[in-house]
Amino acid sequence: MIVVMKTGATEEQILAVQKQVRQLGFKEQRIHGEERNVIAVLGHVYPELTDELGVIDGVDAVVRISKPFKLASREVNPYDTVVKVGPVEIGGGRVVVMGGPCSVDTEENVLVTAKAVKEAGGHLLRGGAFKPRTSPYAFRGHGEKGLQILAAARDETGLPVITEVMDPRDVDLVARYADVLQIGARNMQNFTLLDEVGRSGKPVMLKRGLNATIEEWLLAAEYILSHGNRDVILCERGIRTYETATRFTFDVNAIALVKQLSHLPVIGDPSHATGKWSLVEPVGLAAIACGADGLQIEVHPNPDQALSDGAQSLTPENFEKLMQKVAVVAEAVGRPLAPAIGAQGAARKAS
Ligand code: PEP
Ligand code: MN
Repeated sequence: MIVVMKTGATEEQILAVQKQVRQLGFKEQRIHGEERNVIAVLGHVYPELTDELGVIDGVDAVVRISKPFKLASREVNPYDTVVKVGPVEIGGGRVVVMGGPCSVDTEENVLVTAKAVKEAGGHLLRGGAFKPRTSPYAFRGHGEKGLQILAAARDETGLPVITEVMDPRDVDLVARYADVLQIGARNMQNFTLLDEVGRSGKPVMLKRGLNATIEEWLLAAEYILSHGNRDVILCERGIRTYETATRFTFDVNAIALVKQLSHLPVIGDPSHATGKWSLVEPVGLAAIACGADGLQIEVHPNPDQALSDGAQSLTPENFEKLMQKVAVVAEAVGRPLAPAIGAQGAARKAS
């Protein structure tokens, strides 16, 4: 349910509504609109509440929200969410690109990759220090050492870092190094983890589960948002279908639909979706053309030697080619590529 305040409602009137909502035992969140303020009422609302809240001074209307996800919905918040990550704005009408290795391996490889990503106009450095692997015997990441390698590459290049956190017990540790916490596809419905990153105060990128419906995905985002963390980014990374010729099936529909249903930014990941480096560029361009706010791309200086996902990793040269085409498509669809990261961001230390 949302309480829509009248244009020109006073601060006291808005606070009075928020207080009343809390006194009735609900959670609330205020959405500052350009013209009016809206208060989202969260919990098991009942029909009579419409009248109980509707009579308070300054209230224009009380509206039931039809979707099961509330804070993630455009019905509650029509304004595009812009997630600020250092000098980068995700969802602000300009396309952003995250690039980097699947797994963090050596300091040298990560630094070479980060420099190449930056040179080519990429905006964030990605890399996994905690890796979800299908087999327990596969390489599972360097852990904190990997986080340190990422932080060192950020210090050198100024690229903010996005990295996965898999375990609720590691959220504080990963948040000390990362600029954006990534929730992997396999953990999309790890509700304890979603609660924990919701409380972390860090931007979170939530990848769509391999078998998740769009509604389940947005409800997972709702977990994070319900803790007051508004910096949520969604990532379509392909879903499982009967098709085995590609690793997953990239759901372009989902990107276009989620942009209608939700105000949250959406990133496309053609690397995991296709599993083949030669398909990454065309599918990435499709994501941008149909509304994605950016891309996440796996890049490695020697894909053959990558500790995971080498087959879908671009070389720095191919990443540069991709960036040139992304710039053209992004411009053509009216969401130009965000400016490259300048040298000014280079000095930030891991906090
Ligand atoms: C990743 O980005 O490294 C990753 C494991 O992706 P996903 O969770 O989408 O499989
Ligand atoms: Mn990977």
